[in-house]
Amino acid sequence: MCVVCDNIQLTKWFASNKEYMQCLNYIQKLLDSGDFEMESQTCDLDKVKNDSGYWVDDLIAHTIRCKHCGQAYTCSVDTYHGNGRFRKGR
Ligand SMILES: [Zn+2]
Repeated sequence: MCVVCDNIQLTKWFASNKEYMQCLNYIQKLLDSGDFEMESQTCDLDKVKNDSGYWVDDLIAHTIRCKHCGQAYTCSVDTYHGNGRFRKGR
């Protein structure tokens, strides 16, 4: 953990896809800040829905990593039930 990670806002539980979209916006901001990078083999933030507007999967996960200390954070969501979390780790 480092000073950058001290300020990250994790979400233990969100219960709607709306909050999931807000979480994606937040992750995008973290990436834009230049302090974090997406891990490969994780779903791109702009590919959560297909061309028809449906979720690409029932379970979607995005993992980002702090460039300073290497700590990983994962946003995982169950789009079918509409809940998820943004937590430390992979
Ligand atoms: Zn860090």
